[in-house]
Amino acid sequence: MHRFFVPPDWLEADRVTVVGSLVHQMRNVLRLKPGDHIVVLDNSGWEREVEITRVGKEHVSGQVVDKRLASGEPRTKITLYQGVLKGRQFELALQKGTELGIVEFVPLISDRCVIASLDDVDKKRERWQRIILEAAEQSRRGQLPRLRPAMLFRPACESARRVGLSLIPWEEAHDREGATGLRAVLRGSEQPPFSVNLFVGPEGGFTPDEVELARQYGLIPISLGARILRAETAGLVATAAILYELGDLE
Ligand code: SAH
Repeated sequence: MHRFFVPPDWLEADRVTVVGSLVHQMRNVLRLKPGDHIVVLDNSGWEREVEITRVGKEHVSGQVVDKRLASGEPRTKITLYQGVLKGRQFELALQKGTELGIVEFVPLISDRCVIASLDDVDKKRERWQRIILEAAEQSRRGQLPRLRPAMLFRPACESARRVGLSLIPWEEAHDREGATGLRAVLRGSEQPPFSVNLFVGPEGGFTPDEVELARQYGLIPISLGARILRAETAGLVATAAILYELGDLE
């Protein structure tokens, strides 16, 4: 069954009316017909199964036949603060991160980012939003991951400090004495963290000053092993490892 995230105001008690570009997708691309069933999500945590009753040029309408709690959301809420990357790599991180279960993305502008202005990043927002939406529908997420506005490094540390366990994967952590691995941090906390903030650097990594600043804000530098991962790989590997360790990939 095809799944669609829709604005809540398309829903009335037991009916849904689709307008705009989704009509074209339903009618001409997917060739949906009256009688077909789809799943509609309004990001409230509920999903509705809908039987299509009419496919017009301007509207597609349908009748809600079932309403149930949306599944597909991990218990642990991971926010990925990802250093902004060139070209397709950042999009890859958004797409695959959505499939894996990340609930929130924050484009992070750090010292070694090639793109260094918040304005440049925000121009890409619409496209990034679209990538997240498509990945969320395809991977059967119950809620749409949030894309927060881009942030500079220090405010991002401040924001992360407010809630949850904050980790900063750092490739140099591996060679340091007393450096912590991801598993040790997760097993060391008394109860599984409700939320995790993950800071991953851009192509060139974080500077030692940034790691030190992060530490002052309570972020824990961790190693992801002896091999250096590409920036777009590191966030995904850390996310998969966290969700596995906390029993979410069963
Ligand atoms: N500065 C490095 C590569 C940076 S990799 C170089 O050019 O040699 C980009 C980001 O991925 C890093 O900032 C870090 O957050 C993460 N990362 C990659 N491999 C890692 C590892 N083995 N352990 C911890 N973090 C890693």
